[in-house]
Amino acid sequence: MSKNLYITFLGGIGEIGKNMTAIEYNNHIIVVDSGLAFPSEEMPGIDYVIPDYSYLVHNREKIKGILITHGHEDHIGALPYVLRDLPVPVYGSSFSIALVQHKLREHKIQGIETHIVDENKNVFELGCFRVEFVRVTHSIAGAYALSITTPKGILFFTGDFKIDYTPVDGKNIDLARIAQIGKEGVLLLLEDSTNVEREGYSMSEASVGKKLDDLFAHNIHKRMVIATFASNIHRVQQIIDCCVKYNRRVAFAGRSMIKIAEIAHKLKELNYPKDTVVDISQIHSIPYDKLCIISTGSQGESESALTRMSKDELRKVTITDTDCVVFSSSPIPGNEKLIYNVINNLCKKGADVIYKDMSEVHVSGHACREELKMMMSLVNPRFFIPVHGEYRHLKQHIDLAESMGINRANTLMPEIGDVVEISKLGLKKVNKLTVGTIMLDGSFVQSSDMILRDRRNLSEDGFVIVILNVGASGLLENDPTFEVRGLTISQEVETIIRNRIRQAYASGEYKEMATAEIRVCIRKLIAREIDIRLKKQPIIIPIIFEQ
Ligand SMILES: [Zn+2]
Ligand SMILES: [Zn+2]
Repeated sequence: MSKNLYITFLGGIGEIGKNMTAIEYNNHIIVVDSGLAFPSEEMPGIDYVIPDYSYLVHNREKIKGILITHGHEDHIGALPYVLRDLPVPVYGSSFSIALVQHKLREHKIQGIETHIVDENKNVFELGCFRVEFVRVTHSIAGAYALSITTPKGILFFTGDFKIDYTPVDGKNIDLARIAQIGKEGVLLLLEDSTNVEREGYSMSEASVGKKLDDLFAHNIHKRMVIATFASNIHRVQQIIDCCVKYNRRVAFAGRSMIKIAEIAHKLKELNYPKDTVVDISQIHSIPYDKLCIISTGSQGESESALTRMSKDELRKVTITDTDCVVFSSSPIPGNEKLIYNVINNLCKKGADVIYKDMSEVHVSGHACREELKMMMSLVNPRFFIPVHGEYRHLKQHIDLAESMGINRANTLMPEIGDVVEISKLGLKKVNKLTVGTIMLDGSFVQSSDMILRDRRNLSEDGFVIVILNVGASGLLENDPTFEVRGLTISQEVETIIRNRIRQAYASGEYKEMATAEIRVCIRKLIAREIDIRLKKQPIIIPIIFEQ
């Protein structure tokens, strides 16, 4: 691949999560984002899913660096894994880089070069590319769009964004610069599709401040417990502002909340008067109506602080009818059941619980249709590819682009693994990489489809271990014994299976076979009997002891 411009989609397409895109020209590759996704219901026991980046590993000498649009997990979560194999430089805002460095420390990865991009140092050369970080607004501090000048023209990645004219930190989206880049002529726009189904404009983050203020004003005799995303520092800032105004101290609960608040405070992204924040272990010395706990767990995550509070498992906090618990978030689709479990448990303890249906204490960080249209018209691209969405989002986003005057032939619906060539003539899929996903168990150990199949089997059909003792004569010494878990095998069925195995040995069927072969035969024999009699397909493990 040389002298042509290619984009390879490695994640974040047909899904919201694990964003990763590679741009390639003349043996130079730069990578945009490196995120994780949370597992679907069909992946029992899996903790995270990350993009299959084997293409990058095969082309490691071409990679000039990884650009991070912002510090959300779906954009940085795979970095500890990817950087272990590909120790390339990482570029991002000070907040993004601080979060990345924290991750690398946690995973004990050293020697990675990181570069902080800020207002004064936001343009640089990387291989044959000229990269410009352009400030946008989103539900995290330090979010940027990317304008990448290639020898074939400018590629504009919006990253995750919304157009917030009154951002909490006063750092506005740089619409003027975006318009200027648009005037210079953009070849291709890749735009965030998350909220393409929503008409109008997203609400400003600042509007949440007013709602929060109302809640504090109406609950002066209660202790406040507010759950939100730890990375949404602007939300945390607004909660703290209310605490200062209503004379409450703040305690952070949950590992990521404590850590990210500390990082943000150090970077002056989170500001509060001295003595506002107390350690969670000190809250007993503060009257309950003078305290607010800001917690993780807005998605009902099982190990989060709020979920543990709801089950009386967080030693330092007991929820009672003197608490007002606020979910300052909206459920990520799929998490509703978990969240309602937590809400029910909190209600059982007598707490007042405020969640989305009752009060607008959350706004989205993603652009709605009018904002998407505004971005499109400013960037004014020749070609358009929707990203960061499921297929229904991507399809509607292409329709939206067409309504804005972009010819459908100049748009493309990507899939993961697609290699798209971009030239003045158009967008063309030129290759399809076979990419899977990498599933991670526990502390970043790679899992496989086979392990997953076993887990699904175990949960639905259980397992059977059968132990056989074979004597020197090649016959069974005694009756086979069974260990069964997760299903019931009656005495009668057990006897039938036992007899079949005994018969097989007695008839000399296994005489010429190697032990491994015998094991396969026994497994098949047992599987057939259990399938016929119980309609179950358990995992069967024969253990054969030979004299
Ligand atoms: Zn995202
Ligand atoms: Zn994001």
